[in-house]
Amino acid sequence: MIRKNGIVFLFIMMLLLTAVVGCGTEEGGTEESQEPAVESTDLKDGTYQGRAQGHNSEIAVEVAIEEGKIASIEIIEHEETPVLVDPVFEDVKELMESHNSINIDTVSGATISSIGFRNAVKEAMVEAGATEEMLDQGKKISLDHGVALEEKDYEVVVVGAGGAGLIAAIEAKSQGAEVAIVEKNPFVGGNTLVSGGEFNAPNSWVQEKMDVEDSVEQYMEDTLAGGDYEADEELVRIMAESITEDGEWLRDYVEVEFIEDYLMHFGGHAVPRAIYPIGGSGIELIQKLQAKVHAMDIPVYLETEAKSLILDEDDRVVGLRAENPEGENVHFNGKQGVILTTGGFGANIEMVQEYNPVIDERYKSTNQNSATGDGLRMAQDIGADVTGMEYVQTYPTCNPNTGHLSYVADTRFDGAILVNLEGKRFVEELDRRDVISEGILDQTGEAAYLMWDTSIKENSNMETYMTEFEALEKDDLIVKADTIEEAAGFFGIDESTLKDTVERYNQFAAEGEDEDFQRRGALTALEEGPYYIQKVVPAVHHTMGGLKINKNTQVLSTEGTIIEGLYAAGEVTGGIHGKNRLGGNAISDLIVFGRRAGENATR
Ligand SMILES: Cc1cc2nc3c(=O)[nH]c(=O)nc-3n(C[C@H](O)[C@H](O)[C@H](O)COP(=O)(O)OP(=O)(O)OC[C@H]3O[C@@H](n4cnc5c(N)ncnc54)[C@H](O)[C@@H]3O)c2cc1C
Repeated sequence: MIRKNGIVFLFIMMLLLTAVVGCGTEEGGTEESQEPAVESTDLKDGTYQGRAQGHNSEIAVEVAIEEGKIASIEIIEHEETPVLVDPVFEDVKELMESHNSINIDTVSGATISSIGFRNAVKEAMVEAGATEEMLDQGKKISLDHGVALEEKDYEVVVVGAGGAGLIAAIEAKSQGAEVAIVEKNPFVGGNTLVSGGEFNAPNSWVQEKMDVEDSVEQYMEDTLAGGDYEADEELVRIMAESITEDGEWLRDYVEVEFIEDYLMHFGGHAVPRAIYPIGGSGIELIQKLQAKVHAMDIPVYLETEAKSLILDEDDRVVGLRAENPEGENVHFNGKQGVILTTGGFGANIEMVQEYNPVIDERYKSTNQNSATGDGLRMAQDIGADVTGMEYVQTYPTCNPNTGHLSYVADTRFDGAILVNLEGKRFVEELDRRDVISEGILDQTGEAAYLMWDTSIKENSNMETYMTEFEALEKDDLIVKADTIEEAAGFFGIDESTLKDTVERYNQFAAEGEDEDFQRRGALTALEEGPYYIQKVVPAVHHTMGGLKINKNTQVLSTEGTIIEGLYAAGEVTGGIHGKNRLGGNAISDLIVFGRRAGENATR
């Protein structure tokens, strides 16, 4: 715990350091006085194009050379992940232009995109007359996202710029508070960015349009049953009663756009109730939240990692100690409070195993690398209580090479079946994620094969995820074939048993009842080629456990008392999902409790 003397000493050190190294900036300052790598005379004036492989596909650029120097770089084609790639296409690009050099640091968390972008610009410059040696010479220019080395005074400080954090900050600012966000990544978004962005809401405007009958009580019952009745009923009720109005706030105030005539029906829900953002991903949520945060002038300190909480003499949380990119201490004072929205610990395998030793090295993770449980540790260090830490959710249909959650495999929700290498079904495809995951690991090769036909494809959102589809194809993890035999043969699945399985399933579809696994919802026959088969494995996906909070999002101590000044929302908290989170409920949770944390911290 850091007390006042330490703070004064640090403050003086920071002022001294500020004088020596100068101030960084919020969201991407740049370092000055670097040597240009390419002399002006080396390049012929003109406009040149270059392309190179990025993370998702090729990046194409157009480089304008004027007076022998880079005048401008334009990105003309790419499919990199928006937001994640912003520091590359903004900061790195700006440094290349201002320094007439491609010798810039890669962006951590977006390394492959950085390299792809550099190589594309390099190709254009070679075209303009530069040689490889010329391009590689000169000092490497570093990216500097640092914060000014001084104490920062705010009323509310939010830790983590994922969905919960951005929402909490917007709400706190709307209530009139001076608020700042501290984020350890060089970009905002956290797991929310890579999520599907779908969230459940009973009696929503989309359900109304689609004539789906639902109720708050039914949603509560599904959520409680899905978590084996281990969830905190009071928190579940708040989520169920508030999410529809809060979803409208997201739509109308933050201007997030949703598909108005489509709902996802995640496992464990009695009716389809998950609202689907355009693009079928959290990118839409994060881009709009980020735009709102900018419009409201809320500072976001990137690459700034919160390390510990600061208490006053009365043990009230009044700020936090963070480290800037140079590893130097920075203090963020939040006299009204600190909101922890640091997400879960699904990417911290040691921490997962500490609480749940059953999860072993067979599991990869769907999470961003930054989901390491920092907020939990920081709060536990000052006496916070945790709940449900052993409840770790795995997601059944992930990429066997990377652990990434497969959105192409969402065809499961539209009718695809799961089979094993022997060509047999082994589980109800809409069962809980933990049940399907364990079922998959019991099969030969600890993997399963998801199969669908063209009619299922056409009723699904598969076309939205063609970049992923092509990557899977390149890695031999998916096959599209005219016949069932051909598709089965690609993976060595028993062809004749698979044909029998499909025939039997089609019979169930005709009769409207799945006699083998009682699949819920409508059954769709698989009878129209081409057929698709995708290899899938489970991966660690969500950590249901976390900080114990009360209905006002205040963090509770191990003694059951309120830790004054400390609030939490999103996956860093526990209790809302019990033993198992139903699909679409994490985003509902972070919207509802993110808003409440922002509001309560300003009271
Ligand atoms: C691939 C995938 C798909 C998903 N799809 C869905 C879905 O469709 N619907 C649904 O309901 N749920 C989904 N989920 C779950 C859901 O996305 C997450 O539970 C939710 O986004 C967590 O939001 P959050 O704001 O709590 O944390 P995050 O969005 O993870 O944000 C936490 C932020 O805190 C930052 N941070 C962490 N430690 C520090 C520190 N020490 N200092 C500063 N910053 C720090 C992180 O870098 C990160 O930016 C999905 C999850 C994944 C991984």
